[in-house]
Amino acid sequence: MRGSYSYRPRRRYPFAVPTFTIRTYGDPVLRQRAAEVTELDGSLVALADGMVEAMYAAPGLGVAAPQVGVSKRLFVYDLDDDEGPRAIVNPSISESDGEWTYDEGCLSVPGVYFTIVRPRSVLLAGWDLDGGEVRIEASGLPARLFQHELDHLDGTLLLEHLEAPQRKAGLRILRERQLADGSPARTDSVTIDAAGNAVDR
Ligand code: ZN
Repeated sequence: MRGSYSYRPRRRYPFAVPTFTIRTYGDPVLRQRAAEVTELDGSLVALADGMVEAMYAAPGLGVAAPQVGVSKRLFVYDLDDDEGPRAIVNPSISESDGEWTYDEGCLSVPGVYFTIVRPRSVLLAGWDLDGGEVRIEASGLPARLFQHELDHLDGTLLLEHLEAPQRKAGLRILRERQLADGSPARTDSVTIDAAGNAVDR
C-alpha cells in the first residue's frame, strides 16, 4: 500500500521520536475513548512523528494515537499524494453525504479486510500541530480514512460496522489466527464480504 519511505521529521525539538509498535485487536486501549489534546507542544510533535514512522513501517495509510497505545485525540495519515504526512488534532466530522462501498482494512486487525458501506463524503475539522485550523472536504478514500481514524479515537474498531454474518466470519478468522501462533498473522490477507464470505486478496 505504501511505496515511499522518504519521510524525515521536519522540525527540531528536544524530544526523541518514540518507536511504536501497532496495538492489535484485543488490546484494551483500542476500546477507550481518547482524551482531547489540550496542549500543542514539542512532545505532541514527537508523538506524531513516531506515529508517522510506525505508519510507514506497517505500512498503512493512517494511524490513530490509540493504535500506538496513546489515548489522545490525534491521528496521522499519508495518502501518497504530494502533501506528505499530515497530523490532525482533536478532529470532528460535521457533515457527511452519500454512500460508498469499500474493502476496508485496519493495522490493528491485520490481514482481514471487510466490505463496508459508509458515507462517501465528509467535512473534517480539526487542528494541525501548529494550532492552525484545518477544514477538509473529502470524498472517497480520504473520507473513508477520516471516518476510520476518528472511530479509533472513540474506541470503535471497524468490526463494529459489520453485518452480522460478516462479523461472525471475521471474528472466527481472528480467533483462529490468534490460537495458531499467539499473535495475529500478517500473511494470507482475506476480504470478508457483507454476507460473511471470505475471498483471498
Ligand atoms: Zn484502524
